[in-house]
Amino acid sequence: MQNRPDLAVGRVRHQLKFRLAQVKRVQPLTPHLVRVTLSGDDLHDFESASFDDHIKVFFPQPGADKPAMPSAGPNGPVFADDQPRPIARDFTPRRYNREAGELDIEFALHEAGPAATWAAQAQVGQYLGIGGPRGSFTIPTGFDWHLLIGDETALPAIARRLEELPPGTRVATLIEVEDPSARIDFATQTDLYAEWRYRSESDFPGGALLLALREMYLPTGEGYVWAAGEATIMRAVRQHLCTERGVDKTRIRAASYWKRGVEAVHESIDD
Ligand SMILES: Cc1cc2nc3c(=O)[nH]c(=O)nc-3n(C[C@H](O)[C@H](O)[C@H](O)COP(=O)(O)OP(=O)(O)OC[C@H]3O[C@@H](n4cnc5c(N)ncnc54)[C@H](O)[C@@H]3O)c2cc1C
Repeated sequence: MQNRPDLAVGRVRHQLKFRLAQVKRVQPLTPHLVRVTLSGDDLHDFESASFDDHIKVFFPQPGADKPAMPSAGPNGPVFADDQPRPIARDFTPRRYNREAGELDIEFALHEAGPAATWAAQAQVGQYLGIGGPRGSFTIPTGFDWHLLIGDETALPAIARRLEELPPGTRVATLIEVEDPSARIDFATQTDLYAEWRYRSESDFPGGALLLALREMYLPTGEGYVWAAGEATIMRAVRQHLCTERGVDKTRIRAASYWKRGVEAVHESIDD
């Protein structure tokens, strides 16, 4: 691995802000993924520097039309003492259009959980709260190759990355989804090799993805791997790449976007 300054990852801090926004459009992309477009005056100075960013999405309490929002204190969010903590989950800012004042979020639909339940019934005019992003982890685009790995929850970030990478960039994606109906088309000018795997192909979730990863050709040269999805599966992905394929730990970013049986999980996966 060469020490190329142009390939150094970066971190950007943003001022913490909480915003109220209203649903402008709801567009099912697949039976498993719905795009919600938000708009509102609060979004005029929204910023998102990386496809890896996340925002906290605040949902209204049952019976309320607007979410109870924290305020931004010097050390982070400040919640009202006399009210229950608002329900919030992490999501990727999929696309921000400053001119139109619109922010897209794409929700994976699954069986349980306030975010998925809200997304399944989302309607124009409803309110959501948005916190952040507080910071961005930026990954240079100039690597010789990029590998993007994930499941339904990583699709928004992967789709955004594929739109943002320069034309001709060498990219492979390895994505495990429920079944072929969960596939989406990517708008990209990259030189893309896309591999889709389905949970039904294996006896256990992640099995098809891990098998495909084992068989995947990794090019020579300077590469970067980004992976996000279910905690146990992403840990196995990182372990395989670092211990069996010789990927340097500084050239992989792996994150738990959710954890089977546990609510609201977000962890970077390190040793
Ligand atoms: C940085 C970051 C960015 C993310 N970006 C996105 C995004 O753009 N789009 C997106 O859809 N998700 C995204 N996620 C994942 C999302 O935050 C979680 O899936 C979250 O748990 C959903 O909240 P919930 O209220 O639906 O379920 P929770 O109340 O958190 O969980 C309820 C139950 O559902 C299970 N569960 C949670 N998610 C899933 C799932 N996807 N499939 C099956 N079971 C699940 C949990 O294990 C738990 O048992 C992101 C997560 C992080 C950390």
